[in-house]
Amino acid sequence: MQRWDVVVVGVGAVGSAALRAASEAGARTLGLELHSPAHAGGSTHGRSRIFRHAYFEHPDYVPLLRHSTARFQALERESGDSLLHRCGMLAMGDPGSSVVHGTLESARRWELQAEALDAAAMRRRFPWFELPTDAIGAFEADAGVVRPEAAVRASVRAAERRGAELRTSVRVHGIVEDGSGVALRTSGGDVRAGAVVVAAGAWAAKLLPELAPWLRVTRQVQAWIAPRPATDLAGFPCWLLDRGPHERPLYGLAPHPDASADDEPGDGRHPKVGIHGSDLVVDPDVGAQPVDDDDVKRILSACRRLAPTLADRCVAAATCLYTMSPDSQFLVGTREGSRRVHFAAGLSGHGFKLSPALGDALVDLALEGRTGLPIGFLAPNRLKIGPSPQPR
Ligand SMILES: Cc1cc2nc3c(=O)[nH]c(=O)nc-3n(C[C@H](O)[C@H](O)[C@H](O)COP(=O)(O)OP(=O)(O)OC[C@H]3O[C@@H](n4cnc5c(N)ncnc54)[C@H](O)[C@@H]3O)c2cc1C
Repeated sequence: MQRWDVVVVGVGAVGSAALRAASEAGARTLGLELHSPAHAGGSTHGRSRIFRHAYFEHPDYVPLLRHSTARFQALERESGDSLLHRCGMLAMGDPGSSVVHGTLESARRWELQAEALDAAAMRRRFPWFELPTDAIGAFEADAGVVRPEAAVRASVRAAERRGAELRTSVRVHGIVEDGSGVALRTSGGDVRAGAVVVAAGAWAAKLLPELAPWLRVTRQVQAWIAPRPATDLAGFPCWLLDRGPHERPLYGLAPHPDASADDEPGDGRHPKVGIHGSDLVVDPDVGAQPVDDDDVKRILSACRRLAPTLADRCVAAATCLYTMSPDSQFLVGTREGSRRVHFAAGLSGHGFKLSPALGDALVDLALEGRTGLPIGFLAPNRLKIGPSPQPR
């Protein structure tokens, strides 16, 4: 049986980045994917994802964010594809907003460019949003939209050019480590590897059951909303509205100028809007309930309250999956008791922009047993002393 240096399980956002990194390192690399890369039943479809660097979620992501953006840029140069569109990112909230203050604090700490704005400045520069007079904001000009499906495909092509092999419609059923390597039981026969990277997204707990108490897969809806006729969208940014502790944040993405011709779920011409997070738990093998009228009404009415001219009608909508960890931070590291099985899981609805750094770090672990990328704060053992597991 052929033995691979690295087998990547799941070729979505993180898996395609790992495939690319392992092939760049000269490793004999195999990717095994249940469906096809960036298919519409996982977490990496819908034409656009926000990327930004001033990070309210946790300031320790910033070096990984910088690394990831540089890796996306290198991928653009290699593939000739336009992946990143820098339209800026506006965070908005009330005077106590942890999102706005966290964004500005992260920018200060890492010397990133982010402007603090008051309501008058936001009204002048971003006239679409009707905000209370005491609203505050933070704007990062160097942020924007990245195309998820195009980036995944470009990573896979880059890996294949360097000799990596991709097998699609293959399910990995089990991963067993022995003294000399790892055996993977798959629907396409057994495979042997020196090391394995598990990047299974919403399916992570099915392959690594020890993570099950910490992971919750939830249904999300992304809706493409056409503005009222004659609304000028020149200079329209990505945005996020912090609605306080009792309502989930509302966010929107500018369309990527090169995504309109894509044959992907959604609509490439209009902004996309979503509500971040939900309590609707999903088995990824069953799939999320299709979008219904209530989903669309909820998003349209929230959007109309903030920005009436933006929210004329919904032109397309699609479900997607988040895999939440208890503290909404990623779980990245090496399987307990193992030296050869490494994983990223629980990306909690904010992982795409960081997928290149995660792929690189996992491949470092697979090939060298260590990484220079600062992922220590994402080690899963924090949960044993941290918050208790969420109900499943
Ligand atoms: C609506 C929505 C909006 C989002 N917006 C943003 C955003 O603006 N910015 C941002 O940074 N992030 C955002 N995210 C989050 C981000 O898209 C995800 O965190 C990220 O794409 C997840 O990548 P992944 O590699 O973990 O999962 P996926 O890309 O889903 O890949 C996992 C892959 O593993 C495969 N697989 C699973 N099990 C097996 C198996 N046993 N054998 C073989 N293959 C297997 C699956 O088929 C799948 O292709 C958003 C997510 C959603 C749903």
